[in-house]
Amino acid sequence: MTASSESVRERIRAAEGTGMRTFWEPEPLVWARTEGCNVWDAEGREYLDLYAGFAVANVGYCHPRVTEAIREQAATMTHCPSAAPSEARAELYERLLEIAPPPLDRVLLAVTGAMANETAVQLARAATGRRNVITFSGTYPGRTVGAVRYAGKHAYREPFGIAADAHFVPYPDPYRSPWAGDADPGEAALGLVEHGLTDPASGVEPPACILVEPIQGNGGVVVPPAGFLRGLRELCDRTGTLLVFDEIQCGFGRSGRMWAAQHEDVVPDLMTVGKGIGGGLALAAVVGPERLMTTWEPDAVTSTFLANALNASAGCAAIDVLREEQLPERSARLGEHALARLSMDLADRPAVGDVRGRGLFLGIELVGEGGEPNAELAAEKQRALRERAVLVGRGGRYGNVLILAPPLVIEDDVFDGGLDTVAEVLSAG
Ligand code: PLP
Repeated sequence: MTASSESVRERIRAAEGTGMRTFWEPEPLVWARTEGCNVWDAEGREYLDLYAGFAVANVGYCHPRVTEAIREQAATMTHCPSAAPSEARAELYERLLEIAPPPLDRVLLAVTGAMANETAVQLARAATGRRNVITFSGTYPGRTVGAVRYAGKHAYREPFGIAADAHFVPYPDPYRSPWAGDADPGEAALGLVEHGLTDPASGVEPPACILVEPIQGNGGVVVPPAGFLRGLRELCDRTGTLLVFDEIQCGFGRSGRMWAAQHEDVVPDLMTVGKGIGGGLALAAVVGPERLMTTWEPDAVTSTFLANALNASAGCAAIDVLREEQLPERSARLGEHALARLSMDLADRPAVGDVRGRGLFLGIELVGEGGEPNAELAAEKQRALRERAVLVGRGGRYGNVLILAPPLVIEDDVFDGGLDTVAEVLSAG
């Protein structure tokens, strides 16, 4: 017996504290079952999820290999204290380091992406003896009290009454450049960072790190201009600043390479990973080189479920699937096709300001007549797509960007069908 969607919503409405996103929409979709690229609601209606549950189901929902690994591990051991070594943890470390770019050869675990970012920044502070942080407008590092201090949107801090704890530089958005005229946004942003780091009167304390998403996700799938990440690497090297890449959303095959920064052949000092890496379970981590990752004495960081054996086993299986099924390559191929198709299909739609992305990480920016962000239209189109049984994300600094980040296992024809619906809905009205 399955309860109806309405009764589930009612029970949650009656029991949940406010503050969660649940009732942003008056009738949120009630998830009853998932498999591959699909979600079913309580009434058995099937949806094609082109957002992979907030960019998590990179290997697809309930991949049989991941499910089997979870089943096997569940029968042996689920909880394992963070202080106790386990084979599941060793296996996870080895797999993570096989896919991490050299010379990143050590891991510190986290449960959420926010926690991984907090750990990375605190480690950068401990390793450098500095405390300042430089990050960018539009950054989404997570919503814990620690991580949200580096968030671009100040509205995320307001419920907690806390202040930012970073210097923010405009992220170089090629479509909505913060600089008037022809200034290359990548060069302009690098110029500001250079000024902050090298001008003795810039007012910016020498930072422990620069924290940056190689492709901004919640910021609206913003791909920075070529040379930006490399420029940051050079500035960091010149000034003894650590470079921290948040690959939580854009990594793990999403952009068509294992890591988004590999498109520019740039390796950070510390990299944070999360979302898809747990195959649907709560797993995140910081990866870095021995010289930094051995900074702390034992017991500097811990949390009860850091080394949960179930999560570790699911993570191992997800990594194996991603590699064996060559999902980053698949993401590159399907993403290129989708970008070309959507750009062509939507070229003459005045409300579509920009179509962009890399791999299976695509953003469609909706605008008004004067090119201004149109969040209402984006929300309306997202709802219309749901009515047509297609789920997409919505983000961007102004909430006006539809985000496509489907499972990387999506079949060609299924994806094409989804893109047909997206193009039809965006062409209507
Ligand atoms: N970093 C990025 C780039 C993200 O997109 C997110 C979540 O959307 C986070 C960090 C935070 O991860 P979590 O929600 O697991 O704390």
